[in-house]
Order: sequence, then C-alpha cells, then structure tokens
Amino acid sequence: MRPTGKLHLGNYMGALANWVKLQDKYECYFFIADLHALTTDYADTSKIAPNTLEVALDFLAAGLDPKKCTIFVQSHVDQHYELPLLLGMITPLGWLERVPSYKEMQENLANKDLTTYGFLGYPVLMASDILLYQTDFVPVGQDQQAHVELTREVARRFNQFYPRASHGEYEGIGQVEHIHLPVLPEPKVLLTPSPKLPGTDGRKMSKSYGNTIQMTDPEDVVRQKLKTMVTDPARVRRTDAGDPDKCPVGDLHKVFSTPETMAKVEQGCRSAGIGCIECKGWVADNLVKVLKPMQERRAGFSEAQVKEILEDGSRRARDRAEQTMQQVRLAMQMTLSG
Ligand code: SF4
Repeated sequence: MRPTGKLHLGNYMGALANWVKLQDKYECYFFIADLHALTTDYADTSKIAPNTLEVALDFLAAGLDPKKCTIFVQSHVDQHYELPLLLGMITPLGWLERVPSYKEMQENLANKDLTTYGFLGYPVLMASDILLYQTDFVPVGQDQQAHVELTREVARRFNQFYPRASHGEYEGIGQVEHIHLPVLPEPKVLLTPSPKLPGTDGRKMSKSYGNTIQMTDPEDVVRQKLKTMVTDPARVRRTDAGDPDKCPVGDLHKVFSTPETMAKVEQGCRSAGIGCIECKGWVADNLVKVLKPMQERRAGFSEAQVKEILEDGSRRARDRAEQTMQQVRLAMQMTLSG
C-alpha cells in the first residue's frame, strides 16, 4: 500500500478486510510502499514519512496483527533496492512500456513529470517486492492482475538465464530444502473480492476524486458526508420512485447492510415509501458500526509502538529477503565465494 495518507473505506473493503482474513491462513508480508511513492512524488518527499505512520496505523486499526503477519516499510529493507537493479538488467523495455497503467498514470498525473527512469521501472520494483519473498500468492483485485503477470514473466526470464546452482553449492547457506525449485518461483494471483464501492459523488471511491469516507472519520462526519451523497438521479422529488440499482447509496447498502435492511430499501425506494434521508441514515448506521471498532483499536496505539512494530517487521522482512538474495547472487554468479 502506498503511503498516500489516511486510508478510506474503499481501501479497507478492497484490500485490508481481506488481508485480515489471510493472516490466519498464510505466512503474510504487508508493507508500506514508500519507494513506490517516490516514483510519482519525488519532487516533494515531505509527506512520505508521516503518511507511512498513518497507513501503518490504519493497517493495525483494520486488524492486521504483527504477531500473525509481518508489517514493514519497503525502504527499510535494503534488498528492495538490490533486486530491482538486478532484475532491471534483464527486463526488456517493451514489457514496461506496454503496462496499461504506465500511459494512463502519465495522463492522469499530467501536472507531474513522469518521464523518469524510476517511473518507467516501477513494475520492476513491484516484481522485486513480490519475488524477494519467493511468494506463492499475491492477493490483488482484477485491476492489478497485469502486474502479477509481468512479475511472472520477469521471474521466468530470470530462471531461464540463471538456473539454480547445483545441490552442493547451496549446502553452505542452508537452502538444500528448496533445491528442486527455481530461484524465483512464479507467483500466482489470489483474486480478492473487491466490491463496488462508490464515493460520495457516485464515482469510484478514490482519494484523487476527494469523495472518500476515511477509516478515521468520526460518526458526525460520516453522517454529514452521507447526507450530501448523490442518489438515483431519477428520484427528484420525495414522491418519485427510485431504483437502488442505479443509486450509489444503494451500492453501499449492498455491501454494508443486512438482507432485512436491503429488503426495506428495495421495497421503500421502488414504491417511494421511504425518503432518501431515511435510507441514507440506515447505511450511515451500518458504516459507523464497521468504523467504530477500528477507530477504537487505532486509538490504542502510540506513535512509539507503531514505530517499534515497523522496525521489528522490517527486521524480519530483511532476514527473509536476504535468504532469497543469497540464492539470487549465487545463481547470477555475483559472488566470489564457492
Ligand atoms: S431511497 Fe435510498 S436507494 Fe433509493 S434513491 Fe434514495 S438513497 Fe438511493
């Protein structure tokens, strides 16, 4: 997750809520991608460190537990600088230029000069983030699948150039149990359900649209934002019937409301039996129920505790990443030993 500031409900439903479940099933690594932030925000880095702490707090508020998973800061793990350089040597330029988000982001962020080596190379950084942990699965939504596919291609190319060295050479660094695997296994996508979550203006909830409900928004702010949220445009007067399938508030109900409330919305909206204010009140009640426990959890962490969690996680990540890097250096014959 990039450190772009406090996270919002779209981030929670699209990623965090799922990660919280995954930490009980897998050995998980979650990090704050401050090096990725540099690819677009290199001209002003003043917000990156404070935002890193905010995102870490949101991770913990959502329920990520440092006893169950590793939470770390990308730039605190030196191997995240080393592997991209090595993988950059073998990644054809054409692969980077065809990444769909490359052109799209350049157009969307027209106020920033993104004709940089770092921005073009961010998929290599991303591939390294994944491959450093010899990852089996990457939990992503549909829109991120192309990045994992590129990571698989980079891994395949690496493994073709640099097959794993023979059994004997590995005994010295204690990796004999992985001897049958390629150095950089190709990761698989673990498709995560990401429900359609509209922002207050009806477009996809996104920080860049300024239409978010933040994980830290107090109850009165949530209710206020809901009050001004757009509804089915066909429902101009209270007496007009509406359609929850054409209303962003209806979409929020589908994600956060019980079947009973949903039935009341369906019936009341289509018959003009309820007003939009009442309907928005119900969804606000449910959002507050989701947000309150997270906000209470967040308040339980001091800044010093968060820093300690990140330092400890970064240390654990470094240890794991170094295991991979030893194999990478050996396979590439970038070592004078052996
Ligand atoms: S009643 Fe609810 S679902 Fe129907 S238009 Fe109003 S806010 Fe949307």
